[in-house]
Amino acid sequence: MTDAEIVIVGGGIAGASAAYHLARHGRRVTLLERAEVASGASGVNAGQIDSIGWGDAPDLQAHLTAGSQELFETVQLELGEDIEFRRSGALQVIHTAEQLEFERARVSALCARGHRVELLTIREARSLEPELDPALLGAMYSPLRSQADPVKATRALARLAERGGARVLTGHDVTAVAPRPAGGYEIRTSRGTVVAGALVLAAGAWCSRLGAMLDLDVPIVPVRGQMWATAPVPPSLFQTMSSAESALAWHRDRGGAPPDLTIRDGVRVTRHLYGRQRRSGEIVFGGDREQAGWSTAPDPAGIAVNRGHAIEALPFLAGLPVARTWAGLMPFSLDGRPLIGRIPSRQDLWIVGGLASSGFGRGPMAGKLLADALHTGTPAPVLAEADPARCVRELAASREGGR
Ligand SMILES: Cc1cc2nc3c(=O)[nH]c(=O)nc-3n(C[C@H](O)[C@H](O)[C@H](O)COP(=O)(O)OP(=O)(O)OC[C@H]3O[C@@H](n4cnc5c(N)ncnc54)[C@H](O)[C@@H]3O)c2cc1C
Repeated sequence: MTDAEIVIVGGGIAGASAAYHLARHGRRVTLLERAEVASGASGVNAGQIDSIGWGDAPDLQAHLTAGSQELFETVQLELGEDIEFRRSGALQVIHTAEQLEFERARVSALCARGHRVELLTIREARSLEPELDPALLGAMYSPLRSQADPVKATRALARLAERGGARVLTGHDVTAVAPRPAGGYEIRTSRGTVVAGALVLAAGAWCSRLGAMLDLDVPIVPVRGQMWATAPVPPSLFQTMSSAESALAWHRDRGGAPPDLTIRDGVRVTRHLYGRQRRSGEIVFGGDREQAGWSTAPDPAGIAVNRGHAIEALPFLAGLPVARTWAGLMPFSLDGRPLIGRIPSRQDLWIVGGLASSGFGRGPMAGKLLADALHTGTPAPVLAEADPARCVRELAASREGGR
């Protein structure tokens, strides 16, 4: 049996960042990961980092996005880790007059709140991204949006945590967790038992399974995201790319619990698009979000729809065959908001999760905010919105309530 002051379960971007920041606070922290670091969503995502700046009155979203972007920058520029970070900027392309009106209003509202976005004509957009279809109606440009390699970035944070004194134990599958009468937790793993004073759940889509080990209903569900890639090609795509279609659809109707899916109950409600060119030369695109249980088998029909959407924006992609496809599980909370903080019905139990479809870009700051709250005992005021108390329940009570 080994012991730790704090155990974090999950070696994704959220757990790795929490470990790094807790180690920086001088805390004795152990991270338990059942496979390799970045073997969950953090290793298979598109690598887009969505920041539009802090704005004049930073809310939780601004903290998570702008704060994470600064942390990625620090890891790349100051801490000696090449994570393929670059502030590339991003273009959200506009296909219809309706989308144009929506984006015009959105850009003006965001600018009024001090965010950095701009509405470009298609000519202006094509000066940044020459392969864009000239028939498009324009694009929203976000100069601060960035990109990085997901596996490299997540592993860099875990390595930095180790350098700071954290233990990172891969191949440790947590199979049972029990509170100890004297306080703290006994955590059984596939490779022995660890005793901890405090426990942090950072297990992504699997947080609900960890919660169930503690008789808690942690309402985070797996949502399958899937992607495809071309073979490496010469530099052709410089920004990160998306489309206004889903932005408008979800503005009109977020669709239920969890919100913002592309396919609900087997029926497509919108098309969503994100993509970029990696340093390797591969062009990667994805977009679908569907509740498909725990399956990580890509759905070829969805890949075809997504590729068609990408070709509408960037016609040259029609000449590049799909070289590989993959899928992963995004951790969606039922109300769409993250869970970052202490779980009040248990002693010394914390969570950083529910980062949904943008947790790569928000994970570094989510881990930092969690680490700071745990270390000081006082959560940052912006974490009120992410308070787990709003939704984590006793499992027995949830069953009685019909969930
Ligand atoms: C296809 C796809 C594209 C995406 N694109 C983007 C994007 O471009 N930009 C963006 O910001 N976000 C994107 N996301 C979302 C983003 O990847 C996630 O929100 C984020 O990675 C979640 O991080 P996490 O650390 O919470 O979870 P994860 O990365 O899933 O990490 C959880 C870890 O916990 C481990 N674990 C689970 N159970 C146990 C256990 N019992 N014992 C020990 N370890 C355990 C898992 O093995 C896993 O490594 C995408 C996701 C997908 C799937």
